Amino acid sequence: MTSTPPALVSVENLVKTYPTGARSLTGRRQKVLSVDSVSFRVEVGEVLGLVGESGCGKSTLARAVLGLTRIDAGRVLFDGAEVSGRKGADRKALRRSMQLVFQDPYAALDPRMRLGTSLEVPLIQHGVGTREERRARILDMLRQVGLDESFLDRRPVECSGGQLQRVVVARALLLEPRFLICDEPTSALDASIRAQILNLLMELKERLGLTVLMISHDLRVVRHVCDRVAVMYLGQIVEVAPREQLFERPSHPYTQALLAASLPEEPGAETTFGTLRGEPPSPVNPPDGCRFHQRCPKARARCATEVPQSHQAGAGHSVSCHYWDQ
Ligand code: SF4
Repeated sequence: MTSTPPALVSVENLVKTYPTGARSLTGRRQKVLSVDSVSFRVEVGEVLGLVGESGCGKSTLARAVLGLTRIDAGRVLFDGAEVSGRKGADRKALRRSMQLVFQDPYAALDPRMRLGTSLEVPLIQHGVGTREERRARILDMLRQVGLDESFLDRRPVECSGGQLQRVVVARALLLEPRFLICDEPTSALDASIRAQILNLLMELKERLGLTVLMISHDLRVVRHVCDRVAVMYLGQIVEVAPREQLFERPSHPYTQALLAASLPEEPGAETTFGTLRGEPPSPVNPPDGCRFHQRCPKARARCATEVPQSHQAGAGHSVSCHYWDQ
């Protein structure tokens, strides 16, 4: 009998809505159902990829996992304990254990601040070390991300995008987190340095024993770095599988379309979703039945009315499609 690896993060039936400001014909406030009953786990030491088109709810889900936004239903567990509802020192310790690397390094760093100050602020906020100890820690981390002491006195405008993303990674790792969420960490960078940043993240993941949720709209990025992949469409996870299975035997038509659109080139190069028909429907008023049915090349009448259940397509491979095996 094989035992299930321990989960560092478990997401159970998570729901997150946003008010739109508009009202329906009956006067009810309209809501965007950004994340709809999503469940998944991130196992200790793995890199889980979360992939889908822009606006499918990936970044909202990341914020919910980190406890940065109030959720409507469901729960998030970190190391077996619920993320929401933590207070005081417990909340601060949790914040330290879970860090986020943003998409845009220019937006993540204060343009007026020297990088040394930007790096020291979180350490001060968490009461880490003396001034000398913090400096030594920052220098060590700068070296680990391939930068030197000269960056302490620079401002963001004096650095390239790739150098700044290295600083952002260093800042996230200075607090010695156990869990890192990388939200499109390379999509704002030039194609020539995307692979360098991905390789750096994976080197640090191994060296520091991190668990990672890698969010991307690009299947080549997740193929390059992830152990398992979850595919998200319009607020729902439609397929989860170990990397090899997902790329060799994709079972959901949406995953198949994403794969068909993704060329086997350098990880991080721009992906187009050219083989998909039309745009994703509005999350304010998602379609009945399978949410993908208006764009699905395999849709039949049943798909417009009946919500597909999750099926096991293999070990650790689940797919939500009526016709996954055809
Ligand atoms: Fe396509 Fe139907 Fe499967 Fe949805 S349930 S993905 S519409 S075949």
